[in-house]
Amino acid sequence: MKSKSVLITGANKSIGFETARQMGRLGYRIWLGCRDEARGQSAVASLAAQGVDVRLLIIDVTDMATIQAAAQRVLKEEGTLDILINNAGISGNYPVAPSEQSIRDIETIYDTNVLGAIRVTQAFLPLLKAAAGASVVMVSSGLGSLTWVSDPNHPFSRVEAMGYNSSKTALNAVTVAFAKELRDFNISVNAVDPGYTATDFNGHTGYRTVEQAAEGIVWLAGLDPLTTTAGFYFDKSRAPW
Ligand code: NAP
Repeated sequence: MKSKSVLITGANKSIGFETARQMGRLGYRIWLGCRDEARGQSAVASLAAQGVDVRLLIIDVTDMATIQAAAQRVLKEEGTLDILINNAGISGNYPVAPSEQSIRDIETIYDTNVLGAIRVTQAFLPLLKAAAGASVVMVSSGLGSLTWVSDPNHPFSRVEAMGYNSSKTALNAVTVAFAKELRDFNISVNAVDPGYTATDFNGHTGYRTVEQAAEGIVWLAGLDPLTTTAGFYFDKSRAPW
C-alpha cells in the first residue's frame, strides 16, 4: 500500500525538521519544504540517513512562483497530498511596544505567517482534494490566543509582539475559514500551538524541546479528518481561541 504523504514547510530545522523526522519514522513519505537548496539538502541527507523516505521541495512561502512549481512537482510525481503542515514562520522584532512596531516589520511577518499559509494551502488544494480524507495543520502559537493574551494573569499577556501575536490570531481565523469550506471535501483544517520551544526562533530560550513541540503536531496531523476540524490544540488538548 502507498505510504501517506506529508508536506511540511520550513522543515530544514527546529520544529519543522523534528516534525518531519517523527512523521518519517512513523512511515509517512516526507516532502521536506525549505526555501534554500543547500539547507534543504543537508536536512534531507540527515533524515535519509535515519531511514526516512524524504524528498526536498523548494518552497519560499512568500514567493508564489516557488509554491506553484512545488505543487506542480508533487502533482506530477504523486498526484495527491494527504497532509499539509504549514509550519514556516517568523517572529519579527520583539519585544516592541505596539505604538513603535514598524509597518514594514508587521507586513513582513504577515507575508510569511498569514499569507504564506494561505498561498500554500490554496496551491495544494487540488492535491489535498484528490487524497482520500486529507488534513491541513497550521502551526500557530499560544500568543495568537486572544483568551490567553488578554488575561492579565497569563504570562502570554506580557509578551510585547503585536505583529507576531496578531499574525497567529489571524492564522487561527484562517484555519476556521478553510475548515468550513473544506469539510464537504473530507479535509480537516486545525491549528496547533507547539508551546514555547527552544529553537533559533527565540534564541533557544523556550522551556520545551522540539521533540515535545513536534509530538502535538504529529498527533493532530494523524487524527481522522472526518472527526476533528476547525480546532486549536496544545499538547493534544483543545486550546482557547
Ligand atoms: P525557527 O527555528 O526560526 O525555524 C523556522 C523555519 O521556518 C525555518 O526552517 C525557516 O527557514 C522557515 N522559514 C521562515 N521563513 C520562511 C519562508 N518565507 N519560506 C519558507 N520557510 C521559511 O522557528 P521554530 O521555532 O521552529 O518555529 C516553527 C513554527 O512554530 C513557526 O510558525 C513559529 O511561529 C511556531 N511557534 C514557535 C514557537 C517557539 O517557541 N519556538 C512557539 C509557538 C509557535 P530558514 O532556515 O531558511 O530561515
